[in-house]
Amino acid sequence: MRTAVAVVILVALAGAARADDVQDLAKGLPTCEAARAHCFGITIHVPVVDGKPITTTEWLAAQLAQANRHFAAIDVAWQLAGTVGTLPASAARVEDVPERNSFAPKVTGTVIHVFITGQLDDIDEAGQIAYGVTWRPNGKVYVILSTMARERTLAHELGHVFGLPHSTHAISIMNKSDRKEPPPEQRTFHDDELAIMKKTLARFVRDKFLTRP
Ligand SMILES: [Zn+2]
Repeated sequence: MRTAVAVVILVALAGAARADDVQDLAKGLPTCEAARAHCFGITIHVPVVDGKPITTTEWLAAQLAQANRHFAAIDVAWQLAGTVGTLPASAARVEDVPERNSFAPKVTGTVIHVFITGQLDDIDEAGQIAYGVTWRPNGKVYVILSTMARERTLAHELGHVFGLPHSTHAISIMNKSDRKEPPPEQRTFHDDELAIMKKTLARFVRDKFLTRP
C-alpha cells in the first residue's frame, strides 16, 4: 500500500509541474537580450498526450538559454516566435523518415521550427535513439528535438542549421564523441566553426531567411 501511495503522490507532483495546455508553455521562456545584434524566432511544436503537453516550460527554457549562450559569440539570440503549436499524440514518437517528413507542411515563415518529440528513433541504426536532428526535406530545414536531449542539443542542432558538420575539436558542442575534457559546461563552438556560422549568418540576413520575430 505504501508503494501505491508514493506512486500516486509522484504522479500528482509530475502533473503539477506540467503546463495545463500547450499555450502555458510559452509563459516564462527567455527572450532575446537587447544587446544582441540579431534576434531570430523559434516556433515550437509540442505533442499533446492525454490532454497534456509532453514537455515543460523549464525544459524548453533551458534549451533556449543554451542556444542563446552559444550563439552570443556571433551576436545572435533566439526567442519564441508566435504561439506554441500543438502536435497529435502520435508525434510523441518519431520512428522513421515519413514521420520526420510529416512536419514539413507546418514549416513556414522566417523562423526556425522545432518539433518536440518524446522519442526520436535513429533511422541509421535500428534500436538506437537520437537526441535531435536537423532535417532537410525538399529544400526545407527544421529541427526535431527529443525530450531525452541534453540541454545543449538545441544549440547543437542550430549549429547544423548554420552549416556546421560534426566536429573533432574537443571544445566543440558539434563533437559527439565521449570525452572528459573539457567538461561539458566549458564546451561551445570552436573559432573555425564561428567563422563558418558568421558567413551563414550574413547569407541568412541578406536573403531574409531569418528575421526578427
Ligand atoms: Zn549533430
